[in-house]
Amino acid sequence: MVKDTALYDVLGVTPDASESQLKSAYRKGALKHHPDKNAHNPEAAEKFKELSEAYEILSDSQKRGIYDKYGKEGLEQGGMGGGGMAAEDLFSQFFGGGGGFGGMFGGMGGGMREQGPKKARTIHHVHKVSLEDIYRGKVSKLALQKSVICTSCKGKGGKEGAVKQCTGCGGAGMKTMMRQMGPMIQRFQTVCPDCQGEGEMIKDKDRCKQCHGKKTVVERKVLHVHVDKGVKSGTKLNFAGEGDQMPGVEPGDVQFEIEEKPHNRFQRKGDDLFYRAEIDLLTALAGGAIYIEHLDDRWLTVDIPPGDVIAPGEIKVIRGQGMPSYRHHDHGNLYVQFDVKFPDHLGGTEGEPMTEQQIAALESVLPPRMPQHTPPENAMTEDYSLDKVDTEREAARATQGGMDDEDDEMHGGGGNVQCQSQ
Ligand SMILES: [Zn+2]
Ligand SMILES: [Zn+2]
Repeated sequence: MVKDTALYDVLGVTPDASESQLKSAYRKGALKHHPDKNAHNPEAAEKFKELSEAYEILSDSQKRGIYDKYGKEGLEQGGMGGGGMAAEDLFSQFFGGGGGFGGMFGGMGGGMREQGPKKARTIHHVHKVSLEDIYRGKVSKLALQKSVICTSCKGKGGKEGAVKQCTGCGGAGMKTMMRQMGPMIQRFQTVCPDCQGEGEMIKDKDRCKQCHGKKTVVERKVLHVHVDKGVKSGTKLNFAGEGDQMPGVEPGDVQFEIEEKPHNRFQRKGDDLFYRAEIDLLTALAGGAIYIEHLDDRWLTVDIPPGDVIAPGEIKVIRGQGMPSYRHHDHGNLYVQFDVKFPDHLGGTEGEPMTEQQIAALESVLPPRMPQHTPPENAMTEDYSLDKVDTEREAARATQGGMDDEDDEMHGGGGNVQCQSQ
């Protein structure tokens, strides 16, 4: 009759257990509760320590004798208390290697060795938002599929006690397999096929009806994502604890990253908007109006006063019509860049020159012709006219490497003609 059965209870054996029964009980328990396999579970760590302590005492026949006679106090009085050997050391002595599952679980993502409370993965989602929505601000309702602890079995997978340690792998989730490779037999670690690496098994009839023993069920959850006015692309919105749930693990987070969709009218730079307006030459010179459809269904009528010449590529600003600034909501500017569409030809129909009156009309409003650098009196002059550049032909010439100085002048000349007509 032993004084105290506590250490035997820890290992789940009777006080008359043989040495090999003790050994096997410790082996199973230690594999199951090893901290590397239960990084998230402080209870497992405690259990692992208890198992190691119990086994250390009971596997030593002298200590076991004292324990059986006097209980734990006997050991303490005799200076033979437990904890003489760190649990990890005992484990590695038992299973070899550098201690722990590092090698065994090396192929499983390495996450097993993380310290601290284990947290389920963060669900990342890029939330693409139109510029209109950023301008006005909105609340997006986004549905996500996530794992939640099964309410029927409270995450146990079945009724109390239905979950058994996998016999195939002793709860480790990994198994050593052999493979014949020609004349050699190769040993390798693999995920236990009996339990799919879970280390546990539930009889089919004991499985929870709701989650089928998986402990979690997939649920649809709608989150309300506040897209604040003026929010910048790349802003991350965190929903702590709204991610996946797993038994014994802190629920993960959900993180939305705002991504601004490209817009067909506006380009955004910070709080400013850029807009390209194409206007004809007459509007550029003699005025008119452009209409800009804004991001909130308003149309801006922008007046171009007659005679306020707009040069090709010129940028003008409409103050306060840019984006609302994030959290402050004062507005940036709207910059309008003008593409001035020049006519191919002035005057009558194509090919016909302008009439004297038409030229005179232009001369009456446009600045006078710039003085040209004219040849000296006695210079030899030759007359030329300008041809249209046939881009295809010029490209073909260029690839043949036949470009000479004259060609360069031709290109430059074309540009000059345009500049002079401003
Ligand atoms: Zn369930
Ligand atoms: Zn297994």
